[in-house]
Amino acid sequence: MTRSLPPKVSAAGFDRALAGWRAIVGESHVVTSAAGLASYLDPFAPGEREAFSASAALLPASVDEIRAVLRIANQFRIPLWTVSTGRNFAYGGAAPRLAGSVVLDLQRMNRIIEVNETLAYALVEPGVSYFDLYAHLREKGYKLWVDPPAAGWGSVVGNTLERGFGYTAYGDHAATQCGMEVVLANGDVLRTGMGGIEIGTAWQLYQPGFGPSFDAMFMQSNYGIVTKLGVWLMPAPPAYLLGEIQFRHEEDLETIVDILRPLRLDETIRNNAVIEGGLRRAAGLSARQQWYEGKGAMPESAVAAMLDKLNVGRWNLHFALYGTPELIDARYAIVQRAFARVPQAKLSAVRYKGDAQPTAGGDRNLAGIPAMSAFRMLDWRGGAGAHVDFAPVCPATGRDALRQYSMVKTRAAEYGFDYYGGFTAGVRHLHHIFAAIFDRDDANQVEQAGALLRSLMSDARAAGYGEYRAHLAYMDFAAAQYSFNDGALLRLSETIKDALDPNGILAPGKQGIWPAAWRDRRGYT
Ligand code: ADP
Repeated sequence: MTRSLPPKVSAAGFDRALAGWRAIVGESHVVTSAAGLASYLDPFAPGEREAFSASAALLPASVDEIRAVLRIANQFRIPLWTVSTGRNFAYGGAAPRLAGSVVLDLQRMNRIIEVNETLAYALVEPGVSYFDLYAHLREKGYKLWVDPPAAGWGSVVGNTLERGFGYTAYGDHAATQCGMEVVLANGDVLRTGMGGIEIGTAWQLYQPGFGPSFDAMFMQSNYGIVTKLGVWLMPAPPAYLLGEIQFRHEEDLETIVDILRPLRLDETIRNNAVIEGGLRRAAGLSARQQWYEGKGAMPESAVAAMLDKLNVGRWNLHFALYGTPELIDARYAIVQRAFARVPQAKLSAVRYKGDAQPTAGGDRNLAGIPAMSAFRMLDWRGGAGAHVDFAPVCPATGRDALRQYSMVKTRAAEYGFDYYGGFTAGVRHLHHIFAAIFDRDDANQVEQAGALLRSLMSDARAAGYGEYRAHLAYMDFAAAQYSFNDGALLRLSETIKDALDPNGILAPGKQGIWPAAWRDRRGYT
């Protein structure tokens, strides 16, 4: 195998840079072997994995080391791609957008710097996973919950910066973030918001601070390296109820969304309730081949038979009510009444008090317990299971939800994919997540998954929808769809990029934002 080099850098130049980096982070924390770099390839790439390969990975242990690493990157104009734990699966994993970039892997910076039980927050470094934070809270006996995303092994910092979401009342991770420490491309270190006060007292308490607020600027961007992040934690409720409502008919989706929206708006339901498609629910209980072994998407009749047999709804609403038992009773009565008008809707609920916890399944996420529920889908189709996600933002109206669902389902079937998806309810919007599941070892499936994603994005654009997140391969495409006034938004992003990072060393191409030095690499692949 030929050695991979950073773009526009000679082998001799790269060797000098590597020698410099070894002196900073230590020999064993510079990865250049093919075997070592394999773990930085995207395990679920919807195409050639090597299109997004790294030339090296560096694992610094401190802010000072990061600053020293940046000096060399600036000197040799070598692009760095920062990851916290690199588990951004379905969107690229740890792989960089620009092939040949050097991954700056922050997993060794994994201190939980502070937990404050009284004010309900934590301050963490990038390497801290949801599992880590959860274990720490339990071990110390803090009465605080984390809000885990579907895969608990990911980092709090990585997930929050990507505006990930979970399932409890603190499910909007970007909204519950408070204060960060950032290293800029020129090595300057800043603390946002109240962190600007030297001997601060409110860094994790009041988001804005004084003057412009910059936290959001470091989310889904390539403007800095986040080295500390504050996150608000939910006080453990005295009791909670986890409910499921099964709905029999496809068209029920419209009514479900229109009933759920007012309950979210008036905070009867405070969590990110999930409207899970039947097939996704069934995948947690069985494998596809039990139900269908033919070609193409599962036919309607097979889906219906499967749902019947497994006793799963066509749509399954998972919601949680947290609080004192009196409040839960009152809210539950309202929820029951609201959904009673959907014919054949089947409601069930389990109550928990004190330290009692659900023992298994996706429900654990609603109780603030990290799990790996996201991975059950990998077995659905058999072979080397992988998936790439299409994630359009959907207005919280039944009409829009049904429209997106029909659009995605029809297009997916055309390319031979089942509708494996669902809607996670924000307040005024829904995150519609569809996963195209494919077998990495089946070249045709890989190609079709890629082609499907491109079609879906064009469909969404034509209907006025945009994506909240996209795989590396589609970042330029997704960004270009935000095209108001000839792309004024992206122009602003790139003006800021060039001002902060004139050598273009931080994550070129991330979210479609290319620094001047690499702008010719933009490509709607
Ligand atoms: P996960 O928590 O799922 O492992 P990653 O570490 O893969 O998440 O991070 C997801 C994405 O977020 C990365 O590809 C990168 O663009 C961005 N990112 C992650 N950590 C940082 C960081 N500390 N500073 C700046 N950007 C980051």
